[in-house]
Amino acid sequence: MSDNDGKKTLGLRGPQSGNVKQSFSHGRTKNVVVETKRKRVVVPKPGAAPKATAGGAQPVKSDPAKRPGGISDAEMERRMKALALAKAREAEETEQRAAEERERAEERERRRQEAEAKEREEREREEKARKKTEEEEERQRKAEEAAARKAVEAAAPAPQPDEARPAPRGSAAPARKAPERDTREKQVKPKGARDDEGRRSGKLTLNQALSGDGGGRQRSLASMRRKQERARQKAMGGQVEREKVVRDVQLPEAITVGELANRMAERVADVVKSLMQNGIMATQNQTIDADTAELIITEFGHKVQRVSDSDVEDVIDTVEDDPTLLKGRPPIITVMGHVDHGKTSLLDAIRNAKVVAGEAGGITQHIGAYQVITESGAALTFLDTPGHAAFTSMRARGAQVTDIVVLVVAADDAVMPQTIEAINHAKAAKVPMIVAINKCDKPAANPDKVRTDLLQHEVIVEKLSGDVQDVEVSAISGKGLDELLEAIALQAEILELKANPDRSAMGAVIEAQLDVGRGPVATVLVQHGTLRQGDIFVVGEQWGKVRALINDKGDRVQEAGPSVPVEVLGLNGTPEAGDVLNVVSTEAQAREIAEYRHNAAKEKRAAAGAATTLEQLMAKAKEDANVAELPIVVKADVQGSAEAIVQAMEKIGNDEVRVRVLHYGVGAITETDVGLAEASGAPVIGFNVRANASARNTANQKGIELRYYSVIYDLVDDVKKAASGLLSAEVRERFIGYAQIKEVFKVSGVGKVAGCLVTEGVARRSAGVRLLRDNVVIHEGTLKTLKRFKDEVAEVQSGQECGMAFENYEDVRPNDVIEIFEREEVERSL
Ligand code: GDP
Repeated sequence: MSDNDGKKTLGLRGPQSGNVKQSFSHGRTKNVVVETKRKRVVVPKPGAAPKATAGGAQPVKSDPAKRPGGISDAEMERRMKALALAKAREAEETEQRAAEERERAEERERRRQEAEAKEREEREREEKARKKTEEEEERQRKAEEAAARKAVEAAAPAPQPDEARPAPRGSAAPARKAPERDTREKQVKPKGARDDEGRRSGKLTLNQALSGDGGGRQRSLASMRRKQERARQKAMGGQVEREKVVRDVQLPEAITVGELANRMAERVADVVKSLMQNGIMATQNQTIDADTAELIITEFGHKVQRVSDSDVEDVIDTVEDDPTLLKGRPPIITVMGHVDHGKTSLLDAIRNAKVVAGEAGGITQHIGAYQVITESGAALTFLDTPGHAAFTSMRARGAQVTDIVVLVVAADDAVMPQTIEAINHAKAAKVPMIVAINKCDKPAANPDKVRTDLLQHEVIVEKLSGDVQDVEVSAISGKGLDELLEAIALQAEILELKANPDRSAMGAVIEAQLDVGRGPVATVLVQHGTLRQGDIFVVGEQWGKVRALINDKGDRVQEAGPSVPVEVLGLNGTPEAGDVLNVVSTEAQAREIAEYRHNAAKEKRAAAGAATTLEQLMAKAKEDANVAELPIVVKADVQGSAEAIVQAMEKIGNDEVRVRVLHYGVGAITETDVGLAEASGAPVIGFNVRANASARNTANQKGIELRYYSVIYDLVDDVKKAASGLLSAEVRERFIGYAQIKEVFKVSGVGKVAGCLVTEGVARRSAGVRLLRDNVVIHEGTLKTLKRFKDEVAEVQSGQECGMAFENYEDVRPNDVIEIFEREEVERSL
C-alpha cells in the first residue's frame, strides 16, 4: 500500500480512526486526535492560513511531486486545513493573551501613575518644608555674615564679601541637599515600585507582547521577573538570615560531614562547600576530626559543645538510691576452699536437698547460680561456680557480686594453700566468711584441728570465741546442711542487704556462652532494679533486648528482681563473666555504648599489648622457679569448660612438676593467645574451639603447638602424661584441609549437601570431618558424600569446589567451615 508508505514517512498511522500516532526521532511517539481538527476546518480564519504556511515547518506544498512519499491530495488538503486552523487558533490565542497583557499593563501603568502622583505630592511637600528651613538658615546666615562682615570691616577692609557669599551657597548648600535627595529616593523606592529603568523595561515588554514581535522583548520580561524575584528573595532572605538560630552543637571526637550538617541544621552542601573553602575535600559520609568540625561550626555561627566519646555511657542510670526506696534482698553466696575439700559436693547437696524437696519433679538446670529457701523462709542465692578463680576474675572486672563466702575445709584434711588463698580473697573483698567444716561423716574427721589451724590465719571461729560462724557439715550424709543455711541467713540479716527493685536493672554476668540453638546466652545476677522481658540493655561490649528470661529451674519468667539469677536470651554477642549489665532506654543508646566500649577495649589492648600481661605472668612464674612447670594456654567454647579445665589442670602435678595455665578464656584461639604461648614455649589447647586463620599462620611460623580436644578426659590425660614425662607414641590427629561452605542445597535422598570451596589442603572422602561455626566445633563425624560435578570423588584439592554431606548430620549453614583431619601415629611432644 503506497498510502501506508507515505504515512510511515510522515509518521502518521491509521487516518481512519480518530487517533493518529505521530512518531519523532529517538523513538518518541505522540497520539494526536485528528477528527477534532477536521471539524475545525469548516471555519478557518481567513488570512491565517497563508501566514502559517509561509513559516510552516512541514514540507507541505500542493505540488505532489515535492511532497514526501506520495501523500494523496485529499489528505494533503486536510492537513493544510488543519494546519491553517491551528495557526488561526494560535493567532487568536496570541491576540487574547496580548489583550490581557495590555489590560494588565494599563492597570500597572495606572498604579504607577498613582504612585508617582503620590510621590510627587510628597516630594513637593518635602520641597516646601526644605525651602522653608533653607530660607530660615539663609536668613540666619545672612545675619551672621552681616555681623562678621561688620567685624571684619572694622578690622581691615577686604573685597571678600562678594566671593565669600556665593561660596557657602554653591558648596555648602548643595552638599546638604544632595544627601537629602538621596534619602528621599531611598524612602520612595520601596513604596514607589521600581526605578525608571525597571519600569520602562517592564512596560516595553508588554508592548512587545502587544505587537507580537521577536524574542528579545520576551527575554526582557523574563529578566524583569527574575529581577523582581531576586529582589523579593533578597528581602526575605535577609530577614531569615537575621533570624538565624544559633545552636549548641554537640561535637564528639570525630563526626561525619552529614551528621555535622544535621546537628547544625544546615544543608550538607553548604557544609561541604565550607569545608572546601578550608581546603578539605570531604563527602557527606566522610568523617572529620573535632578540630576541623569546630572550625566549620564557628564559621556557621553556631556554638561548639565538645563531648567525649565516653559521654555515651552517661545514659546509664547510676543515681544512688534513696534509702527509703530500698527493700531487703537475698544474700549471694560463693563457696570457696581447697581442691577436693568438697565444694562441688556441698553445692550439689544444698541444691538437691532444697530444690528436689521443694520442686515437683525436681528438675534443675545449671545456669551458674541457684536460689534456695531455708527452713525459716529466707531466700539464699548460691553461685554455682566454686573456687576463687571465678571470684577474683569477677572482682577484677569490677563486679563484686558475693555477699558471703562459705569457706569449705575438709575435716579429714587441714588448712591447705588454696584455703589460705580463699581466706585472703574474702578478706581483700571485705566479704564475711562462714566456715563449713566438711566431711564430718568421715571417721578421720577432726573438726577441732581445722578450727585451731584457722587461728593461724586470723580466722577465729565462734567455737573459739571468735566472730566467724562455723558449722560442721557433710555433703555426703547431708548432716548440718540446714544449720549451715540458717547460719548464712543469720549472717545476711546482720548485713542488712538491700536494693531498690523499682529502677532500671543492673546486674553482673556470672556465666556466658554461645549456645548453638539459642545464640549467645548469659546468666545474670540482678543486683538492683528489675530485669524484664523486652528490656534493652548493654552488657560489657555487647548489647541486646531481652527475648526471654529463664530461671534456675528452667522456667521462663517475665522478670527478675535483685539477687535473682536468670538466663538472658537476646544478646548480640557473648559477654564475659563479670561484665555488668545495664538496662537503657533505646536500642540506639545500647548500640552506641557497646560500640564505644568495644573500640575503647580494642585501643587499650593495642596500646598495652600482650607483652605487659605476659611479662607479669613470666615474673610470677619465675617466683616459683624451683618447681618445673608446664605452661599451657587454654581456650574453650564455654566459660564452664574453661574453668573445669583450669581446675583439672590445677590438680595435676606433684612437688617437682606442675601445670601452669598462663591464660584461659572463651572463644577461638587468636593471635594474642599464640603470642602468649610463644613467649613461654607453651602449647595452646583448644577445647571445642579452633584457631582463627591468622593465629594458625602465626602458630605455623613460630612452631607453636595447637592442640584441639573435645573430651576433657583426653586433655587431662595428655597433660598429665606430658607433665610426668610419660609421653609415648599416640594416635594423633593431623589436619589435612579446610573447606568453606558457600551454599547449602537440599537433595532428595541425600539430605542437605553443602556446596564448599576447599580453602586449604585437601578434602578426602575417608577423612574425619568437623563442622566449625565461628571457630567453635558444632559437629564431628564422617562424610556421607564428597562430590565434584556430580561425580563421587576420593579427593578434592585446595581451590576447587565440591559438594559434601555429613553422615547423620544436617545442620550445615553457609559460611560454616569444615575441618578435615586424619589420624596418624606420632611421637608425643607436648
Ligand atoms: P571440690 O574439688 O572442692 O569441688 O571437691 P568435690 O566436691 O569434687 O569433692 C571431692 C571428693 O570429696 C569427692 O570424691 C567427694 O565425693 C568427696 N566428698 C565431698 N564431700 C564429702 C563429705 O562430706 N563426705 C565424704 N565422705 N566425702 C566427701
